[in-house]
Amino acid sequence: MTGAFDGSAADSGDTTLATEPLGLRRSYAAETMRLVRSRLDVSLALFSLLMGIDVLFEHRMPGHEGVVGAYGLEILLCVVACLLTRVRRLARHTIPLAVGATSGLALIMLGYSATIAAPAEAVVIGQVCLITCLAVVLPWGVRAQLVLAAISFAGFTLLLPLFSRTTPALFSLIGLSAGVASSCVAAFLLERYRFEAFTRAAERSRAYALQEEEAEISTALLYAGQTLNEFVGRAGVLQEVNQLVTRALGCDWCSTFVLDEQTKSLRFVANVGSPEDVRTEFEHIDFPFGSLPLFDELHRGRLVEIADRNTQSLVPPDLLARWEVASMLCVPICRNEHLIGFIACGYRTRTGPFSRKQRRLAVGIAQAVAVGVENERLIRDLRAANRLKSDFVSTMSHELRTPLNVILGYAEMLGDSSDVSPQELQQLAQGIRRSATELLELVTATLDLARIESGRDELHVEPVELAALLQEVQREFEPLSQRAGLEVRWHDGCPGEVVAADRVKLKTIIKNLVGNAIKYTPQGTVDVRIGRDREDVVLTVSDTGIGIEPDHLTTIFEMFRQIDGSATRTYGGVGLGLYIVRQLVDRMHGRITVESEPGVGSTFVVRLPLTRVTTTSPQALVARALADAGVRTPTSTTARSG
Ligand code: ADP
Repeated sequence: MTGAFDGSAADSGDTTLATEPLGLRRSYAAETMRLVRSRLDVSLALFSLLMGIDVLFEHRMPGHEGVVGAYGLEILLCVVACLLTRVRRLARHTIPLAVGATSGLALIMLGYSATIAAPAEAVVIGQVCLITCLAVVLPWGVRAQLVLAAISFAGFTLLLPLFSRTTPALFSLIGLSAGVASSCVAAFLLERYRFEAFTRAAERSRAYALQEEEAEISTALLYAGQTLNEFVGRAGVLQEVNQLVTRALGCDWCSTFVLDEQTKSLRFVANVGSPEDVRTEFEHIDFPFGSLPLFDELHRGRLVEIADRNTQSLVPPDLLARWEVASMLCVPICRNEHLIGFIACGYRTRTGPFSRKQRRLAVGIAQAVAVGVENERLIRDLRAANRLKSDFVSTMSHELRTPLNVILGYAEMLGDSSDVSPQELQQLAQGIRRSATELLELVTATLDLARIESGRDELHVEPVELAALLQEVQREFEPLSQRAGLEVRWHDGCPGEVVAADRVKLKTIIKNLVGNAIKYTPQGTVDVRIGRDREDVVLTVSDTGIGIEPDHLTTIFEMFRQIDGSATRTYGGVGLGLYIVRQLVDRMHGRITVESEPGVGSTFVVRLPLTRVTTTSPQALVARALADAGVRTPTSTTARSG
C-alpha cells in the first residue's frame, strides 16, 4: 500500500476525526448498544425487585399460588438475558436480545394474569407501566419499542377472553393502545434528542481534537524552527532534526538525505534509530536520481507513504527488509520547487497507514528544514563572498601599490639625477606613463564593476564601425604588444561593417580579452579576429599562452576569481576582467565560450547579436569598396615585436 499527496493537501480528512454521517451513525449505534446493555441490567434488576415484593404478598392469596412459578420464570428470563448480552459474539445483537427479554416478561405477566382471570383493566395498567418505563429507561429507539408494544398488545388481545371484565373490552383495548402509542412517541422523541446531543458532542470533541492537534503541530514546528535557527551553520543540525522527527511523529527511526550537486545523487547525512550496520551501509551508498521509483514521486514534490513494504513498488521490499523498514513516510525537501533532499521516517515492525497528524508534521518539518538548508547555503555564500572581498582588498592594495611604487621610483630617479640625457628622460617618462595607465585601467575596471553591480549601467546603442573600433584597440595595445617573442595579429573579417551597439561596452569586452591574452602569453602569438556568423558578430581572441586547467574554465568568469590567487602572483590583475566581460556580454544578449589547454593556449569566443546599420560612414563605405575590390585594408595587419 502506497500513497502520495501534495503537502498542500495534507489537511484532507482523517477517518479518526471524521463526523461524516456514516461514521457518526456507526459510533452512535455502538454507544446506544453500550447504554442498552448497562441499563437493561438495571431495568431487569428493578423489575425483579418490584415483582418479588408483589409475589411476597400475592402468593398468600387463595388461587394465586402460581405467581411463584411465574416469578421464577421471569427471574430465569432476566438472568439469561443479562448473560447473553455479555457474550462478546452477541454484543451486536444487544437490542434484539433486550426486546426479546422484555417481550418475554410482558407475555409471562399476561399469561399469569390469564390463569388467574385477572381484571382486564389491571392487566392493561401493568402492561402500560412496563412498556412506558422501558421506553424511558432503554434508549433503544422507536423500532425496538414498536416491537415490544406490538407483542404486548397482541398478547393482551389474544388472552382478552380469559380476563375478567367489569367494563366493555373496548375500553381496555383503547387504554392499552394509548399506552402503546405514547410509549412509541416517547421512544421516537428521546431517540431524536439523543442523536442530536450525540452529534453536538461529537462535533465538539472533534473540534477540540483538531485544536489539540493544531497546537501540537505548531509546537513541534516552532521547536523545529528554533532548533534549525540555533544550529544553522553548525555540524549536526540534521541529526537534531531527525531526533525531533522521531519524537514528534513517534517513529522508530528517521534519516535525512541531501542532494550532492556534483554527482546529482542523494547522499545520506544523518540518522537516528536505525541499527549501526544499516547506518554504515547508507554512508557508502549514493542514490542517483531515477535509481528508485520513489525518487520520481519525491521529485514531483509529493509526500510518499509506504504503509507496508510488501505491498508497494517504490522501493524493492527486500531492500527495505534489509534496512529494517516495515513502513515509512518520505517527505521531499525542496528549494524553488527543486528536490534538494528528503526526510524518511518510519517503523521497524509496525505496518499500516500514518495518521494525518504524522503526515502534516513531517511536511511541516521538511519545509522548516528546506528554509534551514537554504539559510545555511546563504551563510556559506556570504562567507565565501566575504572571503573573496578580503582577497580583493589585499589584491587591490597590492595592485595599486605596484604601479605607484614604480611611479615613485621613476620620480625619485628624476629628482636625484641632475644630468639626465634626453633619451633617459624619455624612458623615465614612458615608464611613468605605463604605470599610470595600469593604475587608470585598474580604477576603470573597479568603476565598471561598481556600475554593473549597481544596475546603473545602461546600454547606449549607436552605429559602431567594427574595423575602426578594432584599429583603436590595436593602437592602444601597441606599447604592450612590443614584447620580445610575442606576436599579436589582428584580423578584420567584416570590413566596413557598421553595427548598432554600445561602443564603450564592446570596446571593454575586446580590451579585456586581448589584454588577458597578451598578459598570459609570455611567448607566442595572439590572434584577434572579428567576423560575422549569420546574424551574429563573432569576436575570437586566441593565444598560445599558459592555458587554463579544465576545472577552472567556469570559475574564471566569477568575480575576483584568479587561478593563481596568491599575493605573489606571476601575472597582474585583480580577477575582475572576465567577470566584467561576461556581465557585458549578457547585457548585450550575447554568449561567451572558452576553450583552453594548459601549456598550449586559450581561445575565447564572444557572439553578439548585433544588427547591421544601413547608413554607413564615408570611411566605412570606402573600406567596404576596397574590400569588395580585394584590396587589403590597414586593419588586416600584424603587430610583431622582437
Ligand atoms: P585577471 O585580472 O586576474 O586577469 P580575469 O577575470 O581577467 O582576471 O581573469 C581571471 C583568471 O582567468 C585569470 O586570473 C587567469 O588565471 C585566467 N585567464 C584569463 N584569461 C586567460 C588567458 N588568455 N590565458 C590563461 N589564463 C587566463
